[in-house]
Amino acid sequence: MEFESVIGLEVHVQLKTKTKIFCGCSTKFGDPPNTHTCPVCLGMPGVLPVLNKKVVEYTLTMAIATSCKIAPISRFARKNYFYPDLPKAYQISQYEMPISEHGYINIETDIGIKRIGITRIHMEEDAGKLSHDTYRPLSMIDFNRTGVPLMEIVSEPDISSPEEAGLYLKKLRNIVRYVDISDANMEEGSFRCDANVSIMPKGSKTFGTRVEIKNLNSFKHVEKAIQFEINRQKSIVLDNGKVFQETRLWDTTNNKTISMRSKEEAHDYRYFPDPDLLAIEIDENWIKRIRDTIPELPDAKRDRFIKEFAIPLYDASVLTSSKELADYFEICARMVKTPKLASNWIMVELLGLLNLEGKTIEESPISASNLGKLIKLVDENVINGKIAKIVFEEMAKNNKSPELIVEEKGLVQVSDSSAIESIILRVIENNPKEVSSYKGGKTKLLGFFVGQIMKETKGKANPKIVNEILIKKLS
Ligand code: ADP
Ligand code: MG
Ligand code: ZN
Repeated sequence: MEFESVIGLEVHVQLKTKTKIFCGCSTKFGDPPNTHTCPVCLGMPGVLPVLNKKVVEYTLTMAIATSCKIAPISRFARKNYFYPDLPKAYQISQYEMPISEHGYINIETDIGIKRIGITRIHMEEDAGKLSHDTYRPLSMIDFNRTGVPLMEIVSEPDISSPEEAGLYLKKLRNIVRYVDISDANMEEGSFRCDANVSIMPKGSKTFGTRVEIKNLNSFKHVEKAIQFEINRQKSIVLDNGKVFQETRLWDTTNNKTISMRSKEEAHDYRYFPDPDLLAIEIDENWIKRIRDTIPELPDAKRDRFIKEFAIPLYDASVLTSSKELADYFEICARMVKTPKLASNWIMVELLGLLNLEGKTIEESPISASNLGKLIKLVDENVINGKIAKIVFEEMAKNNKSPELIVEEKGLVQVSDSSAIESIILRVIENNPKEVSSYKGGKTKLLGFFVGQIMKETKGKANPKIVNEILIKKLS
């Protein structure tokens, strides 16, 4: 029996406002517990929340960037539950009237571009942070995170594999970072994902029962957990069992999902409109003002790179996978005659180096303008490709300018025809056997002669000039 899997993701993004969503407390991370609190975020009775306008603007930004429809009027709702990390016993979220719905983003899969629908993007407050003592029967609560603004992005169940889930998340995070509304760091919890997974017989129109997986704090975990869950559900169904709707946790030590609780239904929360907060009205002018602040987004940049710099789709996708990388490429590409050369150098040499050293592009030991200069030296025949690799390695150690390294190490390409000619004549004289074979038709020997000449010049001879003179002299 063949199955297909159906996946929908809920992503919580911590917005980078200075203050919380409904009070003036700081959102700063890492300060001593319970130092950023006030009666509002502590949920004291009788207090009144006041909405932080920046939260609306950041959420609007993301909604526009993902082609969502913006609701002219939206509302906050109370999601009631009993939990120690939210002392007022409800979370202020949006329910029936979210700020935006019906958007999409594109992902680049092996078989082409696929559109993943976005059901809704809404605003809500974060809860506090619990930590459980390993040695004593003791749990502690830090309310610093209570009331930190979150944007929740819910996808349609359009995702069909763990790999697509990874691509979707990376694209989403990329957009969030392009529009600069969050650090969107998975490990630090400012970009969190719950995955909903179900399976059904291949070709079926009816979805299977979904299981929600929480606690996914890296891209790797998301993909692994979804794959595990697909396999688990398959074996249940093949055993004539039934999948239960439940919430499961990803256990990173044992690489499996474990049951956490049976899934609650929306009506269990007794959602109702929060009477303490006014409806949010958004007019066309506000939308336009926000739209004007949105920079070029990844897909648009990718398409422009293809057109403007004549690089392939694959290159353009990789190079726009982060704004910093795209900026780096653009600086290099504008400095050189052949932008494809810049693309190759960045994708192969630079990303290879960064990967090896576990660094991000912002931490690159070689600046964009220095790499651009190096490529220019190759482009203008001052050095050849082989020597350039040596200079690149030297730059990686000290980010000196390539011109300086070339000069210090005497690596300038020899393009002086008469100097090259005399070396060629010497090589011809020293290899009479090869010369007669060459003249007898073994033209493949040209490589042998080039090799000899390069050896004599320590790789510095201009290969184009070598070839020209060599062919003339041999004929
Ligand atoms: P809840 O808060 O109850 O989890 P949401 O509407 O916030 O509900 O999120 C539901 C998520 O589950 C969405 O991403 C949706 O696409 C996904 N989903 C719904 N039905 C299925 C299904 N049968 N299989 C997999 N994912 C599903
Ligand atoms: Mg959910
Ligand atoms: Zn507060």
